[in-house]
Order: sequence, then structure tokens, then C-alpha cells
Amino acid sequence: MNISRLARAIAESPTLALNEEARILRERGEPVINMSIGEPKNKTPMNAILSSATKLSGGDIKYTPPDGTPSLKKAIIRYTEENYNKVVAPENIIISAGAKQSIFNILYSIINPQDEVIILAPHWVSYPEMVKMVYGIPVIVTPEDGTFHPRMEDIERAVSSYTKAIIVNSPNNPSGEVYSPDFIAQIVDFCERKKIFLIMDDIYHKLVFDGVVWKPAYQYTNTDIENTMVIVVNGIAKLYGMTGFRIGWVVTNRKLVEVMTNVQAQTTSCTSALLQSAAEGALNGMQSVVENLRLTFQNNRWVVIEELKTFKGVRLIPPKGTFYALPDFRSYLPSCLAKDSIELSRLILKKALVVTVPGKEFGMEGHLRLSYAGSIKEIKEGIERIKWVLDPSSPNEIYIGDRKLVRDWL
Ligand code: PMP
Repeated sequence: MNISRLARAIAESPTLALNEEARILRERGEPVINMSIGEPKNKTPMNAILSSATKLSGGDIKYTPPDGTPSLKKAIIRYTEENYNKVVAPENIIISAGAKQSIFNILYSIINPQDEVIILAPHWVSYPEMVKMVYGIPVIVTPEDGTFHPRMEDIERAVSSYTKAIIVNSPNNPSGEVYSPDFIAQIVDFCERKKIFLIMDDIYHKLVFDGVVWKPAYQYTNTDIENTMVIVVNGIAKLYGMTGFRIGWVVTNRKLVEVMTNVQAQTTSCTSALLQSAAEGALNGMQSVVENLRLTFQNNRWVVIEELKTFKGVRLIPPKGTFYALPDFRSYLPSCLAKDSIELSRLILKKALVVTVPGKEFGMEGHLRLSYAGSIKEIKEGIERIKWVLDPSSPNEIYIGDRKLVRDWL
């Protein structure tokens, strides 16, 4: 078949593929523990249900303006004021089908072929693929071994005359790292001076633990919204556990919103009216939903830290936010069992039915991403099973479901 070179070069989304594998195994009745998926387990917030139910029962679900409904924009303006201390106009906002489409729209609208985009490892799996989809070149900047925090000097070294944008995601998927206010101040200043777009993927911004403070990039610039290089991406997927509603948004200058609106108008027309009304309900409704999720993840995070401490060879930089941890399994590699994180993840799935995401996908070979969005019982059992696969100090026998398994490979 004559598939385009570009389309052929785009990798499958590893997290969605793993999730599908877990679903199929579970459907077959296998006692799978899915520690790969990036979504909270909560029920949809009541205000979102009521708001979309009202809209649905009115029977008037039509096209909306391509950049989003005025009433959801109003809620986003308030959200931006409350969380970012920034007053923006409706013309500074475009609503899309998830933060994923928001980021794609930005890249499509600013990147010329061969432009470079700096991505800070460990990074969300989709950034490099999206950059390639718009004929740009992803430039990955990796932190010093043993840390997940980028250094300004490494970024400056990676910047060239082709650098068009830098993507920052803090709190970070997959590491749970929250970048320091100092670093955010420096990178904002750098981008404003160099006229490089600074794309802030703030999708996890309220999920921070133990008093860690997350500072919005806007705090470090005096440049007004029409001239700042800071572009903010946000959404309801992670903070409200509304992944299936597919609503995200961008806050930026009017010109870029206009361009992105044309792009969106020619590709999807608009985001669903029904789902926009659900997002409006979530943003205008009780915000204790978000705090409850944050507390759950904070608690789960302790379970992950304690469980991983019992391994002989695992190093973990404790996550400061999100619902992911990225432990370092390198001391178990290379072995006859697995030579890299992809093989390690496969091995754990095959032997112990636990789904993890290989660190290689995030630019962090030798690590595995574990999501702790599930229940404490699942997290404990999942990590115990991983330990049984890898660590000779763990008991030789384990029950997985009602099957008793004996380890015979260590
Ligand atoms: N950015 C990051 C860092 C993410 O982890 C995700 C979802 N996994 C997204 C963006 C996309 O979010 P949405 O579901 O709103 O498209």
C-alpha cells in the first residue's frame, strides 16, 4: 500500500497500545493490573454530568464556534484569573478535543519544515511524534543522570537558529518532577529574550504533593498576553478525571488563536457542544473534586515509595506531583531476562500480568513508568508482583488471581 513517508514514520501511541493489551487480557478473565494508564479512576464530577445532561435533554446539540462556546470560554477566563492571576479575553482562548489536539494545533500553527522544538526528557510520548507530524525536528534535552530536572545550560546549548519552541511539562509526565520556580523564571526570561515560543503543558498543574508549590510561567513575565512567548495548555482530563470528555484549551495571543481556529475549523469544525457543556460544569462546579484526587494521589504516592524501597536494586526519585513514578531498574539490566526497558516491561506483563510503560518511550531507558492512579490494593499487589519477577530476595511463590506461580528463572 502506498502510505506516505511521513505517516509511516509516526509511532503508535505506546501508552494507548498497552492499555488496549491490558483490556484484552482482562476481557479474557486474566487478573491484570494496569499500571500504565494515565487516568484517574473517579466518577465524572456531578456538576459536569448535570451540565451536559441539561444540554442533552434540550435536544439542541449543534456546531459551536470553531474556537469554542462563549460560556465555556467564560469559565476558562475565570479559571485563568484564579489559577494564573492573569486576565485574558475570549479571543485569547481556543478550545479543542483534549490538550493533545491543543498541542498539535499549536505546533501545526508555528512550525515550518526543519524548525526545531526542544523537548525536555523525560517527556510525554506524544511530543516528538507531533513535532515530526508538522515536519519539525524534535531536539531532546536529557538531564544529568540521576535527576529528572532540566538544566538551563543544557537547554541553551541545544538552542540553534532553527529553534522555534520549547515544550515544558511540569508537573511532569512521566517522572512526577515539578520544576523549580527558579528554573521556570529563567526559561521564561530566556524565551522572551530570544523570541522562542514557550509551550507550557500545565495539564497536571494542581496535582502537586506535600506543600510543593507550582508557579505559573506568567508570573515571571511582564510582557502582556498579546506579546508574550508563553503559551499555556490546559484541560480537564487529569485534574477532574474527565479523560473521556476530550476537552483541552490554549491561552495565547489573538493572532495565534486566529490561526489555530482556522486550522481547527478546517479539520474538526469544532469540539462537541455536549462535551464543552460538561467541561463548563466541571470548571464552574465544586472544586473539591480536584483536591480529593490530589489527596488520593498523594497518599498513593507514599505507597509506591514504600513498596519500591523494599527492592534491592531500584532507585526512585520521589515524584512531587502527577500520578506517575519513574523508578530506575537499570541494576536489573542487562540480564538474560531483559536487555532494555521494553523487554523488561514485556517480561513483567508476561510473568506477572502487570502493565507498565517502558522508560525508553519517554527518553529514559532503563526506567519503567508506573501509574498510581489506581487503588492502593492494586498498587501494592502490582509492585509486589514486579518484585517477584525481578528480585531474588522476594518469596519464590506468588498467587496471581487463584493461580499459584513458582519463580524458576532467577
Ligand atoms: N500532556 C500530557 C503531559 C499528558 O500526559 C496528556 C495525557 N496523557 C496530555 C497532554 C493530553 O491530555 P488530553 O487527554 O486532554 O488530550
